Amino acid sequence: MKVTDHFKKAKGETLISFEILPPLKGGRIQSIFDVLDPLMDFNPPFVDVTYHREEFIYKKRPSGYFEKVAVRKRPGTVGICAAIMNRYGVDAVPHLICGGFTIEETEDALIDLKFLGIDNVLVLRGDARKFDTKFEPEPQGHAYALDLVEQVHNMNNGVYLDSNITNAENSNFCIGVAGYPEKHFEAPNLNMDLYYLKKKIDAGADYIVTQMFFDNKKYFEFVKMCREAGINVPIVPGLKPITKKYQLTSIPRLFHLDLPEDLVSEFAKAKTTDARKEIGIEWCVQQSKELKEAGVPCLHYYTMGDVQTIKSIVKQVY
Ligand code: FAD
Repeated sequence: MKVTDHFKKAKGETLISFEILPPLKGGRIQSIFDVLDPLMDFNPPFVDVTYHREEFIYKKRPSGYFEKVAVRKRPGTVGICAAIMNRYGVDAVPHLICGGFTIEETEDALIDLKFLGIDNVLVLRGDARKFDTKFEPEPQGHAYALDLVEQVHNMNNGVYLDSNITNAENSNFCIGVAGYPEKHFEAPNLNMDLYYLKKKIDAGADYIVTQMFFDNKKYFEFVKMCREAGINVPIVPGLKPITKKYQLTSIPRLFHLDLPEDLVSEFAKAKTTDARKEIGIEWCVQQSKELKEAGVPCLHYYTMGDVQTIKSIVKQVY
């Protein structure tokens, strides 16, 4: 079932969903079930599974030279989606990125998803690879998520890349895209970012999931600006608790966002690891409650493997 149909079915009730990461290569599918089993008590209608492009690493050779090699550390997105649907009977939303794919490879990946009965995709550009200074698409690949939305939308209308293919079966994907309440870091300003976000919606995207944020005002303001810009699809807030001291610097650096002063000063006052964790959990609980009261379609939690923390938050919200 499509994510947007879940929203319609909920008739204004706030749903709950989770994002998980594939395990590192060589890991077990059981590690995914260990994360999700405890979260199924909250009846998530869908679970997102991230996609990880190959990364460059440097390997030392016997000669002493370093060789730059490409490795994919977290493969398995599509297989995990199929396993989730099979085990729990909930919808899985694979993330699909531009990076590392030619448009033909993207088409084939979409055909696999269609044949597996997967109705949803979260369409993204992807980030620059480690050691690359900026995002580089494949020579025959998409440069922006917008182009990928157009490809999925075309396939939904039975249009494949090879124009000789006639009477092709339409796909029927519900398309999600990313939005940034604090602006995407490459955009010159929020208005320009919203301009391209609207283009993704006009090209066929059905809903938006936001980057994490720690100040609800930023989300509410973002939604207001989207509505004023004519973006009328559901906007799902993405949430992540901050629980460790190093995250005070790693989260702003990796995700290009601000942490509110109150949260940072509470953290600074805390003396122990447990105390910091409690502060982070409480902050996320309060964010979640306020968003739920405001009637957001869904609270979407980035689990990042920390299932106990997420569970204790959701328990206090539902
Ligand atoms: P785009 O929408 O393409 O935007 C990228 C930048 O280009 C923006 O600054 C935008 O304003 C600008 N822009 C857009 N279109 C155009 C255009 N036509 N011309 C000029 N400028 C344009 N990454 C992964 O690798 N795997 C994942 O699983 C993953 N999951 C994510 C889930 C969520 C909810 C979010 C918010 C992000 C996720 N990311 C993931 C990270 C994402 O890939 C990066 O944030 C990436 O830098 C941008 O992706 P996008 O889809 O927003 O890009």
